[in-house]
Amino acid sequence: MVDFISNLSLIDLHIHVGGSVAPHVLWRLAHEQGFKLPVDNYWQFKQLVTATSENVSSLDDYLKILHEWTEKIQSSPMAVEQSVYEIISKEYRSSNVTAMELRFNPMKRNSGGELDLDHIIHAALRGMDRVCLEYGVQAGLIFCLAREFDFERNKILVEKAIRYHGRGVVGIDLAGTEKRRLEDDPALLKSYGELFAYARQHGLKTTVHTGETRVTSGEAVIAVLKHLKPHRIGHGIRAAYNPKAMAMLREQAVTLEICPTCNLRTGAVANMQEFQQIFTNFNQNGVRYTINTDGSYLLQTNMQQELRLLHENRILSQEQIEQSLLWAKEACFIFALRYNPNSYLTPSHQAEEE
Ligand SMILES: [Zn+2]
Repeated sequence: MVDFISNLSLIDLHIHVGGSVAPHVLWRLAHEQGFKLPVDNYWQFKQLVTATSENVSSLDDYLKILHEWTEKIQSSPMAVEQSVYEIISKEYRSSNVTAMELRFNPMKRNSGGELDLDHIIHAALRGMDRVCLEYGVQAGLIFCLAREFDFERNKILVEKAIRYHGRGVVGIDLAGTEKRRLEDDPALLKSYGELFAYARQHGLKTTVHTGETRVTSGEAVIAVLKHLKPHRIGHGIRAAYNPKAMAMLREQAVTLEICPTCNLRTGAVANMQEFQQIFTNFNQNGVRYTINTDGSYLLQTNMQQELRLLHENRILSQEQIEQSLLWAKEACFIFALRYNPNSYLTPSHQAEEE
């Protein structure tokens, strides 16, 4: 299909490594590592690692697939390197995504501490370096802290992100089940507020998953904005029903990372009519948003498909889609940090060599 979307150079700021590797690649990685799989053939495996309306109706169902299968299969330096390489190259080939930020939790890839975290991180950076050189795209990594981890483990992840900041780790995120309500716990809000400030002092950018599902509200978004002060918010759709949250997002120039298919699949947004209302509220209140994939293979989508879903359902006009891309450019951590893995290929550097 050729439309204006096909001609855009896209940006995807919200991609989970756990949900974005093709099933046939996961299948190969599982076999290469001698994994015992509870299936008879590839087709059954594909069902296992794909979120359909039969097996996923909530965020926790969605996270369960990551936890039980993809994160385990990706738990080796070899698997992490190949996963990162495959995701970035596929985003470019399928949708002409030329700048992207991948997020994952290295501590969910090191077999409960049996593997060295630095080996896992170096592997991810190797995969990213190779694919950026081959495809000429720009990419960065975001480390996800986990809501279910204790504070000390998450602090280690922040220290690792700081250590690898100059190598292509551009930020941190907080992700996981929304049933663990950091937003209602003053002591945790204070600790994580300090941890996020510490990350920013060391040059990292920050984003937080919040206000995603119906168990939270705009109040959760307000609490995160107040205490964690992130540059962006993952999803944050509950803010659409809270004028104060929208005013804060606008005033603090915080950009939302919306992932439409993911929100529909997990039931965070009931249907396209609700999306219509959500985007109308954001547009009327000056809230900036970007459109992203979350987990392209798990959700059987890609960036162009996400944009078409909104455009064809008359939720976003061409102008609004182009505006969201401009916001993505402004909110992109890679661009803000001027991190360019291909910078050594620029003409000025070549001139110096001569
Ligand atoms: Zn997410």
